[in-house]
Amino acid sequence: MPGEADFVHLRRRSIDARGRQALVRLRADIYRETPPSELFGPWFVYPNVKTNNPRVLIIGAGPAGLFAALRCLELGLKPIVLERGRDVRTRRRDLAAINKDQIVNPDSNYCFGEGGAGTYSDGKLYTRATKRGDVGRVLRRLVQHGATPDILVDAHPHIGTNKLPAVVQALREAIIEAGGEVRFETRVTDLLLDNNQLRGVVTASGEAIEAEATILATGHSARDIYELLHRRGVLIEAKPFALGVRVEHQQELIDQAQYRRAERGLLPAASYSLVHQTEVRGEQRGVFSFCMCPGGFIVPAATAPGEVVVNGMSPSRRDSRFANSGIVAAVELSDMDVKQHGPLAGLHFQQQIEQLACQAAGGTQQAPAQLLGDFLKDKTSTSLLETSYQPGLVSVRMDDVLGPVLAERLRQGFRDFGRKIPGYATNAAQIVGVESRTSAPIRIPRDKDTLRHPVVAGLYPCGEGAGYAGGIVSAAMDGERCAEAVRAAVSR
Ligand SMILES: Cc1cc2nc3c(=O)[nH]c(=O)nc-3n(C[C@H](O)[C@H](O)[C@H](O)COP(=O)(O)OP(=O)(O)OC[C@H]3O[C@@H](n4cnc5c(N)ncnc54)[C@H](O)[C@@H]3O)c2cc1C
Repeated sequence: MPGEADFVHLRRRSIDARGRQALVRLRADIYRETPPSELFGPWFVYPNVKTNNPRVLIIGAGPAGLFAALRCLELGLKPIVLERGRDVRTRRRDLAAINKDQIVNPDSNYCFGEGGAGTYSDGKLYTRATKRGDVGRVLRRLVQHGATPDILVDAHPHIGTNKLPAVVQALREAIIEAGGEVRFETRVTDLLLDNNQLRGVVTASGEAIEAEATILATGHSARDIYELLHRRGVLIEAKPFALGVRVEHQQELIDQAQYRRAERGLLPAASYSLVHQTEVRGEQRGVFSFCMCPGGFIVPAATAPGEVVVNGMSPSRRDSRFANSGIVAAVELSDMDVKQHGPLAGLHFQQQIEQLACQAAGGTQQAPAQLLGDFLKDKTSTSLLETSYQPGLVSVRMDDVLGPVLAERLRQGFRDFGRKIPGYATNAAQIVGVESRTSAPIRIPRDKDTLRHPVVAGLYPCGEGAGYAGGIVSAAMDGERCAEAVRAAVSR
């Protein structure tokens, strides 16, 4: 404790299980005297902005929107967050309706609602985008608002779906306490555009809300927002993304393969990260694992009825019997019909496969599935395995959903992964479709220095939906950067 003569401050913790004996590596600072107070927080103070501070509209309360709002407060801007979905607590009921009654509410689901797509997730907090902002600041902010301090030291930090809602609620309460606003069930449906100047937005109830700047952080699933921008003549661009399936194994199989021992004992549920270069009809595309969830669940992540989309989440202890991961192939612009659909081509490609997945499995939230060994032989499975996917699975020939090219790419990838992890590519696993919301199929362009849309003044495209983030931490960092960019513009 502070004040005692000797103090050990853990800086990093990682597990190395490559050898016969697993090693836990720790890096720590030892203080002979009182350690510096900044080790303990609180690190962030939000000045009150109730009075005449410049107003900033933030559309979307995902990680990008919430972190933009908190940074706005620090910079003396009043954030007004508009979120189409419900608060984290109420949102739970809508998730239960998807899982139990097969009903998808287009405003409140696994992607939409307070905390955005990151709330009911694994809460993995590692990112490769370390140059795009201050990862440590994002993690400290999460800790200050209730996340476990372990995330500051773990090499692969994660929070878990059971712990995330309380953290998200605390972030919202901090925004409101400092004079910001957070309005739920407030869907933006139009823009107040005046000669390429964005003055504000219009909501589904018809209310017009004006502000000095608008940070658009609506995520990769807000198709109506992309369509709105296109309809109103705001420049957007088609963008490559990735699409495939989720594969589910018994966690035990992955543990045994990765730790090379019969029991994992005290070690955490093992994970993997796989990549393979495929070639089909002369075209090369990467196939890779995406958002691996050890000890987790496959979840229904569609945002509208009539489509089936899967994703994964894990509780903080990662203690379910299942391991799941997206296995996806890159989709390039040349794979889409840009001629017919212009910048919305990727969105159409994605939507078509999601709708096929829904039809193939009977038109509900049940998902199409095939045993992995059968998929490799292009043989329809006569039965399926037990699954963590609550709405249920229906055996289909996955080629009918994915099409021959994508299916062949995934087959090449799976064969390679089977060589890397014993038992991986067999009928001990099943694939579930479709993993289609890996990143935005559209980019909303912005100037690299001012972060403003190149044509529309007052518009700051932000986070994953605009094409500048992929994951909770990078979206949060992008939110902070956009708030800083708005501050710089408003000060001018
Ligand atoms: C099931 C699942 C598990 C995941 N697991 C992880 C993980 O473990 N680690 C990780 O790093 N990433 C994970 N991700 C991805 C991560 O959640 C996203 O990368 C991240 O949330 C993107 O943040 P964002 O703020 O840019 O967008 P989002 O989180 O998508 O937030 C956008 C928000 O905008 C709102 N919105 C949309 N349209 C409108 C409108 N018209 N008006 C008002 N509001 C609107 C939405 O309701 C939503 O709340 C997961 C995603 C899912 C779905």
